This record gives sequence, structure tokens and C-alpha cells, in this order.
Amino acid sequence: MKIGFIGLGNMGAPMAANLAMAGHEVTGFDTADVSVEGVAKAASAKEAASGAEVVLTMLPNGAILRKVAEELIPAMPTGATLIDCSTVDVDSARAVGEMAEGAGIMFVDAPVSGGVGGAAGGTLTFMAGGSEAAFAKAQPLFEIMGQKAVHCGAAGAGQAAKICNNMILGVTMIATCEAFALADKLGLDRQKMFDVVSTSSGYSWSMNAYCPAPGVGPQSPADNGYKPGFAADLMLKDLRLSQQAAESADADTPMGALAQTLYEMFVEQEDGAGRDFSAMLPRFETRGRG
Ligand code: NAD
Repeated sequence: MKIGFIGLGNMGAPMAANLAMAGHEVTGFDTADVSVEGVAKAASAKEAASGAEVVLTMLPNGAILRKVAEELIPAMPTGATLIDCSTVDVDSARAVGEMAEGAGIMFVDAPVSGGVGGAAGGTLTFMAGGSEAAFAKAQPLFEIMGQKAVHCGAAGAGQAAKICNNMILGVTMIATCEAFALADKLGLDRQKMFDVVSTSSGYSWSMNAYCPAPGVGPQSPADNGYKPGFAADLMLKDLRLSQQAAESADADTPMGALAQTLYEMFVEQEDGAGRDFSAMLPRFETRGRG
């Protein structure tokens, strides 16, 4: 298949490489002059898109996605498919979906989870929104770049699923970290805390699979000095997107709002920038109620 790939950053580059390695003819474009093995270089997004059966985008945010989409959609052949894998706001995903549809292009919003490791290993999970036909077109590519793809509904549904999931993740990580810090102050051993909670009703992915306490539970960024993993900065981005969506849909999300405030303080005023999002535990450790 002739594929255009726009945005060859930490995630996009390995995803494009995996598509090329699987035998597809991939032409890529990034504003930073990036070379990716097996991927031909185009001089613009438009050039990468022209004549492509499928175009994928993996970009930083909704504003950039909208701008790039305006440029590449007119260059795509009618009946082609645009797959956006970036994490962006639901409104931008829907707007680009409409823009594509108006031009006779199929659209799938397909944000991912699995991070840079998942992108390199071809083990990402895709949460997809779009028509049945668009999803069917995208699925063989999802199978190359990932291990699971869930069709969540119409355009925008993939982004909706992603930000709802990550809102839960931000909230449960904070709850898990503050509970560990409280347990410390109550003289409870961290291993005992893990043994109880991970098999009791307080368990979650944050505790059981990504334990924020070093030396406890399975290997996690806590065991590596809180090097990301999933950076607190990216968690903040996703929490902001979920609050933006909640505003737009008039949904009451007090815990999500508080999680956003805490990650904002951590990343912008404290030492959270560039650290894993589970480094909330050392943050709480050093604090009292004042
Ligand atoms: P990144 O900053 O490494 O890559 C983005 C790339 O887009 C950069 O190389 C940049 O030069 C390029 N770019 C910016 N504007 C452009 C334009 N107008 N035309 C062409 N290229 C342009 O970011 P990333 O980590 O690869 O993340 C990409 C997306 O994936 C983001 O939306 C992010 O939220 C999401 N995501 C990231 C992770 C992760 O762990 N890194 C996990 C899940 C989802």
C-alpha cells in the first residue's frame, strides 16, 4: 500500500518504520528534518499525501493537526483514508473528520496507548473512531503497528476513550501515591501496603502494574529513578484535554479537575517536568498538610 506518514517524532518514526518493514511503500514528512529507515522523505505534507491510499498523522496537538489536515486532504485521492494517531482534543478530531468527509476522504481518529516502547515493538493499542469502512481500511495497519485496536464509535470516539481512560489513570495514580505517603507516616511497610492493596478493593493498574513505590511490585519507572515511562508532562496534556472535553460537553468531573491542578503544579512549579507521572509519590512523601 502507498502510505504517507506526517510527524516522525518519538512515536511516529518507529510506527512508520514498522509499516515500511512490513512491505508498505511509506513516504514521510516532518518539519524537523528526520530520516527513518525504509521511509522515503517528502518535502512537504502535501507531497507525502499525494497519491497515497492511506495517510497517517502523529502530531503534537489539535491546532497543528487541523493545519496539516487542511494542507494534505486536498492532495489525497478521493476514497483514500486519513488516520490520525495523535492525542488531540475531541473537537479537533471531529472537525478534521468533517473536513475529510467533505472531500470524499475517509477518516479515523486512532490515538494510542503503549508509549515509545509500544511504538518501537509494534505493540500499541489503538482506540479508533470513524465509519465501519474507514476502520476496516485502517485495521491491517493497526495490526502491524499494534497488538489491539478497539473500534469505539464515530469520529472523535477514539479520542474520547483515550482521555476518559487517562483521566482515570491520573486520578488513580494520585490516589495511590497519596495513600503510600499516608501509609509511610502511619509506619506501615510499603511492601505490606502493596501486598494488601494489590489484592484488595483499592487495587488499580497504578498500584498493580505500575507501582509508584521503588522496589515494590513489578518493575516500573519508580525502580529507575522515575525516568519516564509516561512523563508527567504528557499526563498533564491528557488531563487538560479531558477537562476541555468536559467543559465542551458540560460534564461534572471534579476529580479529573483536581488531578489536572495537581499535575499542573507538579510540572510547572515543582520538579515534575521530565519525570515519570508516578513521581507524585516522592512529591507527597515530603509534604505535610500545611
Ligand atoms: P514528538 O514531539 O516526538 O513528535 C511530534 C513530531 O511532529 C515532531 O517530530 C515534530 O517535528 C512534528 N511536527 C510538528 N509540527 C509538524 C507539522 N506541521 N508538519 C509535520 N510534522 C510536524 O511527540 P511524540 O511523543 O511522537 O507524540 C506524538 C503524539 O502522540 C502526541 O499527540 C502525543 O500526545 C501522542 N502520544 C505520545 C506518547 C508517548 O509516550 N510519547 C504516548 C501516547 C500518545
